[in-house]
Amino acid sequence: MRVEGIENVRRILCVFPRYTSSFGTFEYAYPLTAGVEAFMPPQGLLLIAAYLPEQWPVRFIDENIRAATAEDFEWAEAVLVSGMHIQRQQMNDICRRAHAHDLAVAIGGPSVSACPDYYPGFDYLHVGELGDATDELIARLARDPSRPDQQIVLKTTDRLDMTRFPIPAYELAEIPRYFLGSIQYSSGCPYQCEFCDIPGLYGRNPRLKSPQQITAELDKLLECGIMGSVYFVDDNFIGNRKAALDLLPHLIEWQKKTGYVLRFSCEATLNIAKRPEILAGMREAYFCTIFCGIETPDPVALKAMHKDHNMMVPIMEAIHTLNSFGMEVVSGIILGLDTDKPDTGQHLLEFIEASQIPLLTINLLQALPKTPLWDRLKRENRLIEDEGRDSNVDFRLPYEDVVTTWRACMGSAYEPAKLFERYEYQISHAYANRLQPPRSPQQTSWKNIKLGLTMLRNIFWKVGVLGDYKIEFWKFALKRLARGEIEHLIASVLVAHHLIMFARDASGGHTNASYYSLKLQEASVPAE
Ligand code: SF4
Repeated sequence: MRVEGIENVRRILCVFPRYTSSFGTFEYAYPLTAGVEAFMPPQGLLLIAAYLPEQWPVRFIDENIRAATAEDFEWAEAVLVSGMHIQRQQMNDICRRAHAHDLAVAIGGPSVSACPDYYPGFDYLHVGELGDATDELIARLARDPSRPDQQIVLKTTDRLDMTRFPIPAYELAEIPRYFLGSIQYSSGCPYQCEFCDIPGLYGRNPRLKSPQQITAELDKLLECGIMGSVYFVDDNFIGNRKAALDLLPHLIEWQKKTGYVLRFSCEATLNIAKRPEILAGMREAYFCTIFCGIETPDPVALKAMHKDHNMMVPIMEAIHTLNSFGMEVVSGIILGLDTDKPDTGQHLLEFIEASQIPLLTINLLQALPKTPLWDRLKRENRLIEDEGRDSNVDFRLPYEDVVTTWRACMGSAYEPAKLFERYEYQISHAYANRLQPPRSPQQTSWKNIKLGLTMLRNIFWKVGVLGDYKIEFWKFALKRLARGEIEHLIASVLVAHHLIMFARDASGGHTNASYYSLKLQEASVPAE
C-alpha cells in the first residue's frame, strides 16, 4: 500500500550514501564483472520511495553508482536519506550538500533509529520502522517542504503491518548494476546475543510479509533485470521457523515456474542444522549460501555472549550438515571478546582450516548502542569514544595485540593457496550436493552467455595475466576448465579475488578492523 489522503505534489530525492570500503561489499570483485558497481539495492529507501504518494515524482540515487549532482538537488523539493552506522559520515555529507541548496533533509533507517545523536544537522529524524512517523513526515512535507526552524524527531509507535508493505521501488534502481539482489521476508530475531542490536531495534517476535508478497517482489526483481543471486536480508531466516516452512513451497514453485534463474542466500542461526525439513526445502528452492554468525569456535565465549544456541549442534557437525544440503557456509567472526586469550588467533586459523569455510567476515568487537553489551561496558566504564581507534571497546587484552591478531588472521586466512583450497573443498563437498536444475532458456540465452564470457575474459586477463597470484589461480582454474565447471570458476574467483585483495589491505593496516569503525579511510571521502 501507499500512504493515502495527500493531494498535492512534491518532488522527492532519495539518496543512498556510499559505503566505506569493507570486507562485505566485494568491491574488488566489481572490475571482474560485466558492469557491477554497487553491493545490494537498499531495501529501506526503496520501500519508502514506493510508499510515497503515487503522484509524487521520486528520483533515487545510489551514490555507490553515481553521486547526486547539483541538478538533482535543484530538481528536488526535499531529500530523504537512509543508511547504516558505517555510512554515517557520508549521510552527514549528503545533508550538508542538500542544505547548500536550502532543501529539507530527512533521515531514516537503522543508524538514526539506534543513534539519533549522530545526526544533529538533519531537519527530520525518522526513528523506527515504516509506520505513523512515516505518515507524519509525509504529511509535514506535503504541507510545507521548506526547512523547519529546528530539528523535528518523529518516532514510530505504530508500525505498519509488513503484510501491507508495498513492493520496494526496484524500478527506480539500476538493478543490473548490483552485485546481489536483496529481498526481505521478516524482521526481528528471538535471540538476544549480547553484542547485537537487532532485538532492540526490530523486536524479538519476527514480523512477516506473506509468501505472495515475496513471489511478487521476485517477479518485479526479474522484470528489473536481476541476474544471479538474491539475498534474504532477514535478520534470521529461521527467526520464525514455521514462517520459513510456509514460505519455502512458494519459493520452490516460483523457481520451477521461472526456470531456476536465481539462486538464494540468507542469514540464519547455526541451529538451523537441527531442522532437516527446512534445509531440504531450502535446497529445493535453490538456496546456495547461508551466512551464520558463528562468532567464535570457543564455547566459553559463546556462552558469555549469550549465543548458546550456536552449540545446539556441535559447530563442525552443523557446518557439514549445511554443506550436505548444498549450501556454502559464510561465517561472521568476532575478535576482541572478553574471553579471548593470546592464542585466540591461532585457534581461529585452526577452525578455518578444519571447517573449510572460504569466506569469514572477521571483525573486532564493537559495542553498538541499544545492546546489552553497550549497557554492560558502560557500567564497567569500558566504552572508549575515540575515532582514531578501530573499536570503542576497552578490550581485556592490550588493544595493539588484538589489532595485530586481527591483521595476522586476515593475512593468513586469505593467502591465495589456502583460500582456493577451501573453494576446492566446497566444490566437492557442498556445491556437488546442490539441486541440479535443468538449464532454462534464460541461462542459455545469448545475453547470458555474453555475460559469462565477459566475466571470464576479465578474470583471465586481470587475475590470470596481470594478477600476482597467477600460479594459485591457474592451478584452481585449469581444474575447473577441465571439468567444465565454468560457473563455479566464475563465482569462486569473483569472491576470492576480493577476499585476497581486501585481506592484503587489512594485514597491511590500510583498512578498518571493524565493520562499524569510524576511523576515516580513503574510500569514505565524501562524494563530489
Ligand atoms: S541470532 Fe543473530 S540476529 Fe539474532 S540476536 Fe543473535 S546475532 Fe542478532
